[in-house]
Amino acid sequence: MSIQRTFSIIKPDATRRNITGAINAKIEASGLRIVAQKRILMSEKQAKDFYAIHAERPFYSDLVSFMTSGPVIVQVLEGENAVLLYREIMGATNPSEAAEGTIRKEYAESIEANSVHGSDSYENAVAEIAHFFIDSEIVS
Ligand code: GDP
Repeated sequence: MSIQRTFSIIKPDATRRNITGAINAKIEASGLRIVAQKRILMSEKQAKDFYAIHAERPFYSDLVSFMTSGPVIVQVLEGENAVLLYREIMGATNPSEAAEGTIRKEYAESIEANSVHGSDSYENAVAEIAHFFIDSEIVS
């Protein structure tokens, strides 16, 4: 497996609790490199578009409200097998099902306020990165 990039969001529950550095420490300890990062406030349109795949789910409007409730950190992570590796260190969506040592086990507040997003496929990673970053903002 070659060097790959994935897209990450540190969500509003984590920026509110001032634990973005703690989460970045876990990312870096896994061997992934943070090759782009910025703090933004997502617009309602950005959040709706980003989670459009969940538009029919009952939690969609709550999720959009949550993701726009405070700043987020959007990131590009780089490393061997980055998409799968980041999914592993994030842990399961529901923190009560997340494995010991994962970011969500340690920091998530609930199934919704679960501290981080990570792309679930290489194709989605490419699209999500392009949505938030231009090439010159990503420095390996
Ligand atoms: P992920 O890839 O692990 O982030 O999970 P999904 O793509 O299935 O869901 C996207 C996001 O929607 C999750 O990270 C949660 O923030 C939120 N979410 C997922 N399932 C639920 C749910 O059952 N209830 C609520 N309130 N939010 C959910």
